[in-house]
Amino acid sequence: MTDARVQFADRIIDGKAFAEGLRERIGAAVGKIKAAHAMAPALTVVLVGEDPASQVYVRNKGRAAAAAGIAAADHRLDASTSQEELLVLVAQLNGDPAVHGILVQLPLPEQIDPAAVIDAIDPAKDVDGFHVVNTGRLATGRMSGPNAAMVPCTPLGCRMLLEDRLGDLAGLEAVVLGRSNIVGKPMAALLTQASCTVTIAHSRTRDLPAVCRRADILVAAVGRPQMVQGDWIKPGAAVIDVGINRIPAPTDNEPDKMRLVGDVDFDAAIEVAGAITPVPGGVGPMTIACLLANTVTAACRQNGIEPPSF
Ligand code: NAP
Repeated sequence: MTDARVQFADRIIDGKAFAEGLRERIGAAVGKIKAAHAMAPALTVVLVGEDPASQVYVRNKGRAAAAAGIAAADHRLDASTSQEELLVLVAQLNGDPAVHGILVQLPLPEQIDPAAVIDAIDPAKDVDGFHVVNTGRLATGRMSGPNAAMVPCTPLGCRMLLEDRLGDLAGLEAVVLGRSNIVGKPMAALLTQASCTVTIAHSRTRDLPAVCRRADILVAAVGRPQMVQGDWIKPGAAVIDVGINRIPAPTDNEPDKMRLVGDVDFDAAIEVAGAITPVPGGVGPMTIACLLANTVTAACRQNGIEPPSF
């Protein structure tokens, strides 16, 4: 551990520990649902091809689901699978009442248009929250009832960490760095719902450091290793680092060694921030935990059961 991590340990938002607690709460909720309704929430993950990172993600998702009592299944399809074949499988899963959540692991091989596949998933079973119907429901604030939004897992986890650390977020100035459909835009929508004053910054933003320095809450989701510097951060701000970047970290014994870093220069940022998520051990573990939460929510909504709040 670096000196800064030891000196400012109380500033670290421990996403790993929070995610473990969340997974326990989900497991307990699943136990109650099974006992009361004789129904086990069920998640099906579809993986096309042999992308090594995707294989690890799919295995971890399956294990985490099983550990929480969620029925987990996966379909592993050959890399040469056509879009039509994948759409047939999605249609089957849509029509299967025993499947409550469908996740098609991205990226897909180049012959398949990811948007066409996401569009084909029943929005009620879209536990990734990527379908445009869910995007629209999130943007218009439809967050409860049978037709409520399924919220993308990573920003949902970020909001939980922020509310756990800061309590009510209303009135805070939030800057979301990155405008992707899977992180930046839904994150901005969630913070807007939480009554923050939200700025979305991106590659065309002018004077990014000055924009970031306005933020009481800074969410970095750019995919640029350690881009956010210490002097971009307002003293006392809460910094959520979504980035997962591998950079070379050669040693004498392991010249090819790599290490994971976020989009924020952590050691510089922790000296200024009031709270910050580390990489690894911050946002990453929350994403899988929120996938499980979404599966339980989806299963409840599909069966007319009030979803538990996590
Ligand atoms: P993305 O789709 O590549 O979007 C990156 C965003 O950052 C874009 O909006 C882009 O702006 C902006 N950007 C890029 N370079 C910039 C620069 N120099 N200055 C200002 N803005 C810049 O990435 P993503 O899918 O949102 O992912 C972002 C990061 O989060 C990645 O490191 C990814 O691995 C990580 N991630 C982590 C999790 C997790 O579970 N922890 C989940 C998802 C993603 P433009 O729109 O103008 O191009």
